[in-house]
Amino acid sequence: MTLPRLPSLFGAVLSGALGLSAPATHAEPSESAEPVAVLTSIKPLALIVKEAFGPLVEVQSLLPPNVSPHSYALKPSDIRQLAASELFVWIGPGMESFMPAVLKKAPPQQTLALIRVFEDHAPELLLRYKAFGNPAHAHDDADAEADDGHEDDHAPGQVDSHLWLGRRQALESAQRIGDVLKQRHPHLTAKIDQRLSNFAESLSGLPPAPDLAGVRLVSYHNGFAYLMNDLNLQVSEVVVTQSDLTPGARHFGVLRDAFQRSPHCLINEPQFGGSRLVDKLATLAAQTVTLDPMGQDSTRYTELYRGWVEALGQCAVRTAPST
Ligand SMILES: [Zn+2]
Repeated sequence: MTLPRLPSLFGAVLSGALGLSAPATHAEPSESAEPVAVLTSIKPLALIVKEAFGPLVEVQSLLPPNVSPHSYALKPSDIRQLAASELFVWIGPGMESFMPAVLKKAPPQQTLALIRVFEDHAPELLLRYKAFGNPAHAHDDADAEADDGHEDDHAPGQVDSHLWLGRRQALESAQRIGDVLKQRHPHLTAKIDQRLSNFAESLSGLPPAPDLAGVRLVSYHNGFAYLMNDLNLQVSEVVVTQSDLTPGARHFGVLRDAFQRSPHCLINEPQFGGSRLVDKLATLAAQTVTLDPMGQDSTRYTELYRGWVEALGQCAVRTAPST
């Protein structure tokens, strides 16, 4: 997929040639004592920005936290909010596929697509979607039918967009956002650096991985690789290989057989709650836990991350089916 506008914006940010994307009315943002108006696409990015930069920023997120960023249609008010923001931070078209067209229509003063920044500055922190042993949707009639030509956004080998689930990636994101803030507001440099080092310390104080020896993890959606990588854990199966599909009968059978062979812990997400399929899988799993990648109820990133680790710890509670 091409990024019609972003490469030139990044070039401007990273070479320090600022002002190219800034309207004349904001020619000297560095003199302002007001918090910097930062808009993020999704809530967890806003949590990172808020915790990292505190009172230096006024941060909001565009998407409600209870929707999947993989499929969202912006409202006119969203577009006004976007055009009014000083800095807009998002992941990239692999996550918010609706954004490139909107950014063309309503460009904020400055835009930061994290995947692009990582590709340029920290490619070693990017993971790619791995292939799971279960049949891919291409071999599954029901799944193939559901494929309406939508891009295969969680396909093996492609860069995994769920960056914020890793601690190092959260810190790297904050540092790169800090670079932009420092360029735009040089008088904040010392405060930004101090806050970034505090944020790094908070991240390093997060709890270690729970002991999940003997438990196989299966996630509903293929979005947890960064967290697993952080915690040295592994997801052994995923229920859906793409964001907008449901598993076909054959894949369901494979999962059911696997669940019967050994204890599995099913990682569910609030947005999939109540689906009949999840309920059915949950009755077959030794344990079901809910991890909210979007942080619907969180006010701090480190609190959100702590919640993920605690939820995974629940996987160890029951390691064999009780029925
Ligand atoms: Zn996803």
